[in-house]
Amino acid sequence: MLNLILFGPPGSGKGTQAEKLVAKYRLLHISTGDLFRYEMSHNTELGLLAKSYIAKGELVPDAVTIGMLRKRVEANPDVKGYIFDGFPRTVPQAEALDKLLVEKHQTISALVELTVDEDEIVKRILLRGKNSGRSDDNDESIVRKRIQVYRKETTPVADYYGQFGKSLTVEGIGSIEGIFKKLCKTIDNHVGRKA
Ligand code: ADP
Repeated sequence: MLNLILFGPPGSGKGTQAEKLVAKYRLLHISTGDLFRYEMSHNTELGLLAKSYIAKGELVPDAVTIGMLRKRVEANPDVKGYIFDGFPRTVPQAEALDKLLVEKHQTISALVELTVDEDEIVKRILLRGKNSGRSDDNDESIVRKRIQVYRKETTPVADYYGQFGKSLTVEGIGSIEGIFKKLCKTIDNHVGRKA
C-alpha cells in the first residue's frame, strides 16, 4: 500500500497534483476541503457547521474533521492506498490518522510538501476565487488568515512526520507537469529506498 499525505499551504497546488498522482498510482483521493464543500452545497448539518468556520478562514474542529475522514476511509477499505489532501492539518489529526491506519495494519508512506512562498500563494488563491466562486478565496484578509493558521497549526504536522523520516519537500513553482515529475521522483526514491 502507498499512503501519501500531500501537504502544503492553501493554493500550493495540492488538488491539481493529487488528481495526477491518483491517475498514476491508482490511489483513492480524500480531500477534506472537497468533502466539506460537498456537505455545504447540500446544506447538510455538517455542511452548515463547517461553513461557520470556513467562512472565517478558521479550521473546522478536529473531532468533526476526524469523524468525517474516518467514515470516508472505512467506506473504502479495498483500495491500493490513499492520498490525503488537506488532512491532517493539526498534530491531533495526524495522531488520529496514524491510529486509524494502525487499526488497518497500515501506515503513512510519506508526507510530501509543496513549497510556495506567501506572495505567490495569495496571488494564486485570489485568481482562483475569481473563477471558482469559492467565497473563502475572494477576500484577501481571509486568505491571509488561512495562511496564518497554516503556519501556526499545520506546519507542525510536517515536523511530526519528520521525526519518523517521512517528510519530503518539493518546490511547487513551475509548470504543472514539471512539478508532477519532481513529485513522482521524490516519492519513488523514498519508497524505493525503504523497500
Ligand atoms: P485550501 O488548501 O485552499 O485552504 P481546502 O479545500 O483544503 O483549501 O480547505 C478549505 C477549508 O476547509 C479550510 O480553510 C478549512 O477551513 C476547512 N478544512 C479543510 N480541511 C480541514 C481539516 N483537515 N481540518 C480542519 N479544517 C479543514
